[in-house]
Amino acid sequence: MALIDRLIKDYPELTFISDASFRWSPANQQISYNARASGKTSDWALLHEVAHALLSHNHFSSDFSLVRQEVDAWAKARILAAKYNQEIASDYIEDCLDSYRNWLYRRSSCPRCTSASLQIDNSASYLCHNCNFSWQVSRERFCRPYRRTSKTTQPIT
Ligand SMILES: [Zn+2]
Ligand SMILES: [Zn+2]
Repeated sequence: MALIDRLIKDYPELTFISDASFRWSPANQQISYNARASGKTSDWALLHEVAHALLSHNHFSSDFSLVRQEVDAWAKARILAAKYNQEIASDYIEDCLDSYRNWLYRRSSCPRCTSASLQIDNSASYLCHNCNFSWQVSRERFCRPYRRTSKTTQPIT
């Protein structure tokens, strides 16, 4: 049985819909998946989104907490994967997390003095404790680049 069919059976509380990308939508408890994508990495992406759902990742208060949720979701995805006789490659997880860490680094570096800065909770603002510069970042949800192979990247939101 395909992984998606097993997940649909095992998690009746979640809704799975075929879409262009892999995504967890907390508002309607819905997991989108790309039915045309195949292979191990699409199974891993699917398990990762289910992990977000099972961990009730419904909200994040800062960029840092978003990255924290990604780390937690991959840890949970690895446990889930074992249940379905799969093993998610550590390199793959690290690549995914690196793209989040780089994103966080870019957003949190002070544009004036480049110091690593802290985000003001529940806001789209950062404040530099070195030079007191404050700046806004986009509230747009991070677009996750999942690496399919070592060469090509596929943007998945
Ligand atoms: Zn995620
Ligand atoms: Zn600064």
